[in-house]
Amino acid sequence: MRLGGRRVSSNIEDRRGTRFGRAGGIGLGTVVLALLAAYFGIDPGVVLQNSQQAQPVQEEQVPYQESAGEAQARQLVSVVLADTEDTWSQIFTAAGRTYEQPKLVLFSQAVQTQCGFAQSNSGPFYCPADRNVYIDLSFYDELHQRFGAPGDFAQAYVIAHEVGHHVQTLLGISEKTQAARARVSQADANALSVRQELQADCFAGLWAHNAEASRPFLEAGDIEEGLNAASAIGDDRLSKGRAPPESFTHGTSEQRVRWFKRGFDSGSMSECDTFNTRSL
Ligand SMILES: [Zn+2]
Repeated sequence: MRLGGRRVSSNIEDRRGTRFGRAGGIGLGTVVLALLAAYFGIDPGVVLQNSQQAQPVQEEQVPYQESAGEAQARQLVSVVLADTEDTWSQIFTAAGRTYEQPKLVLFSQAVQTQCGFAQSNSGPFYCPADRNVYIDLSFYDELHQRFGAPGDFAQAYVIAHEVGHHVQTLLGISEKTQAARARVSQADANALSVRQELQADCFAGLWAHNAEASRPFLEAGDIEEGLNAASAIGDDRLSKGRAPPESFTHGTSEQRVRWFKRGFDSGSMSECDTFNTRSL
């Protein structure tokens, strides 16, 4: 991606260096909540349940020394977030609505959110309750090394996907889905979650389409990086084929790639209606 000269967002909140513990001196290790490692968006239901449990308290704030790689990643995230603000503001305005910009919180190791306490191993996520996107930038190393998805566009896709969940929240889609999920079987609830995730993938593609249309920034191989990342985090790939399809919550690699591409190729919201599509 060519990001030089592009605007950076003022909605970045840096909470790196915050350390947590529990009253009585019990270490963080004992208060690990069983967050599912649902990459690219924790199931909000899971986090909300966990928030009922004992919460660690903030212990101290230590100065955070970021590496050169992290500084670069922070810059990328700031530019991509700004770009999503521009894209979605335009789309919302055209529809007679106002786009409320989300905050993006950088954290290290753990973070307290209105969706509960989360640790880095849960991956980047969006919390509908406080409307923040959360990311520990070390996830990008994992994306590269563990998931085999390197590249700056892969990193941008992560942010655009989480912002997609924010858009779903603003449009009331998340709330409706959450309510519907509570009324059905686990398998059907999972199927609804898949629709929500694939729509966020489509929205990520839609962002890339619009950003490119307003000011070209994509370089050869960028879209492939995004598609590779979408493929790397499909439920079938993550479970190495061991989990049954009805347990999927994010969609298969093939589905994630296809919906991202659909958003990217069309640049249109109506092409991202995963909830009214018979076959995903
Ligand atoms: Zn997601």
